[in-house]
Amino acid sequence: MFKKILYPTKFEEFALPILKNLTCLKAAGLEEVILMNVIETEALFIIRDSGFPIDFDRIRDKAQKEINRFAEYLETEGVAVKTKIVEGSLVSEILKAANEEDVSLIVAGRQKRDILGELFVGSTTDRIIRKSAVPVLVAKYHVLKETAGETTEQYCTNMFRKILYPTDWSSSAERAKQYIPTLHKVGASEIIVVHVLETDFDLGIKEKLANLEQEFQSQGFKVSVQLIKGKPYAEINKIATEEDVSLIVMGSHGKGFTEAIFWGSVSQRVVEYSEKPVLVVK
Ligand code: ATP
Ligand code: MN
Repeated sequence: MFKKILYPTKFEEFALPILKNLTCLKAAGLEEVILMNVIETEALFIIRDSGFPIDFDRIRDKAQKEINRFAEYLETEGVAVKTKIVEGSLVSEILKAANEEDVSLIVAGRQKRDILGELFVGSTTDRIIRKSAVPVLVAKYHVLKETAGETTEQYCTNMFRKILYPTDWSSSAERAKQYIPTLHKVGASEIIVVHVLETDFDLGIKEKLANLEQEFQSQGFKVSVQLIKGKPYAEINKIATEEDVSLIVMGSHGKGFTEAIFWGSVSQRVVEYSEKPVLVVK
């Protein structure tokens, strides 16, 4: 499930802390990380065409140095590593590499704040999730910032400590569920299961929740379940914040699945507005 991870990076401030977080997936079967940097030529050509000289060799050299620094870290952690520096357009190069390398997970997440201070997911991440065939882990940089200064070990257990699993019992949500037992091996100890009722009542939901509670308990988790009425994405994000979960694990589609839609609206909004990292399972 986490055997081979594709980690595209621009070497931002928090790219290394996130990578450190990921190395604890070794206990969940992580063997290799593909580090990737895309030199976005389209943007560079526009700058060059406006008369500004661009030294592509220098850009490449600089990227190579940075990527080597990340690779060294992984090697000392005993994780196999491959580096890729490619020129092209960001999203299509990432998807191409994910395919060619047959990765099990893509890590994305350039998180920014807009002028109102709200978080939103960059369009890159958005497009990756829509088109990726494999799960995407959306990391949240600012969350790491708040704990900056603490040790690497704390970064490590932070992301997988306490999981929020929102479900509508769709096939995509069920696939997301399958990632959870594995996370127990990397330190996840608590799980909150939530279902948000969109209609007035739904017979059998309580029983389904009780079954899930039992299932996770038997895997060794401390479990709580919540059945709420409201807007799914808003309630999910509210619980994530209030309960201070470290990761949300959910499907990319739900009950409303249609071929024409690449990404369900509940999942899309959770990823966009949540302050917590989200593992989106296709
Ligand atoms: P849409 O709802 O926009 O028609 P969809 O049903 O295909 O699209 P989403 O509703 O976004 O897709 O579902 C994606 C994931 O969100 C599900 O796999 C599940 O994890 C979670 N989810 C969706 N609805 C609920 C809900 N009511 N309560 C809890 N989790 C939910
Ligand atoms: Mn839905």
